[in-house]
Amino acid sequence: MTRTSSRSPLKKVSLQPGIIYGPVQSRRLGRSLGINLLPTEYKLCSFNCLYCQYGWTKNVTFTPDDRLKDLPSPGMVATALKTALAEFSGGHKAIDAISICGNGEPTLYPALAEVNVEIKKLRDRYQPAARTAILSNSSTVGDPAVRFALELLDLKIMKFDAGSEEMFRQLNHPAAPVYMGEMISGLKELKNLLLQACFVQGRVTNADPDSVAMWLDKLREIHPLGVQVYTLDREPADKRIERVSPTTLRWIADAVRWRAGLKVEIF
Ligand code: SF4
Repeated sequence: MTRTSSRSPLKKVSLQPGIIYGPVQSRRLGRSLGINLLPTEYKLCSFNCLYCQYGWTKNVTFTPDDRLKDLPSPGMVATALKTALAEFSGGHKAIDAISICGNGEPTLYPALAEVNVEIKKLRDRYQPAARTAILSNSSTVGDPAVRFALELLDLKIMKFDAGSEEMFRQLNHPAAPVYMGEMISGLKELKNLLLQACFVQGRVTNADPDSVAMWLDKLREIHPLGVQVYTLDREPADKRIERVSPTTLRWIADAVRWRAGLKVEIF
């Protein structure tokens, strides 16, 4: 069931101001403590999605070597997470998930594996029932080192909302060199994979029957554990796109279920 009526106004969202945020009531993860490994003053991403809730990416990049000074060190992340988890655990407050997301694409963080090891240790110590998770745009999943870092976490929720190179470029505007074929190969290698897909209409639509059919072909090939479909919930970067109706989302979900044979949820 979608939470937002197709008529209610879309809310604006600000960048996360620090390393730890929440816990927030997440549509996917329940009560989730967020980790932002990225800058707090701007979005750092390898995509420039039309529907991004954080507005346009100023410098779309795949290699943030010149921005490393703006990223927290692994030690800073561990200290911030430990402080937050100790506080929650001291107050006997349970959380459902510790999730890495934040101001852009978290796999651009160069020490992701090191941070993920620390997150697991702290989770085991303070909130052993919580799942560890990451939301990624899949742009770096072709890299074995990134896949190694991702596999250290319980849940990998990876973006995949275009079924052709043309739609991928129109909707996500990836930085070169991100190729869909490489992404698909990398996604196929990941264990316990969940895919998420945002459907929009207007200047660009990925919710028409032809686009959905091409996307389903790729889903069959990747064969994830499950698929999450949703539409705009926050104000998009490109004001010329709109959310799709609940009926359209239900039709897409039925197509995933019956034509691709996969589990699907609507958010
Ligand atoms: S991948 Fe996520 S953060 Fe990056 S532009 Fe797209 S929606 Fe925004």
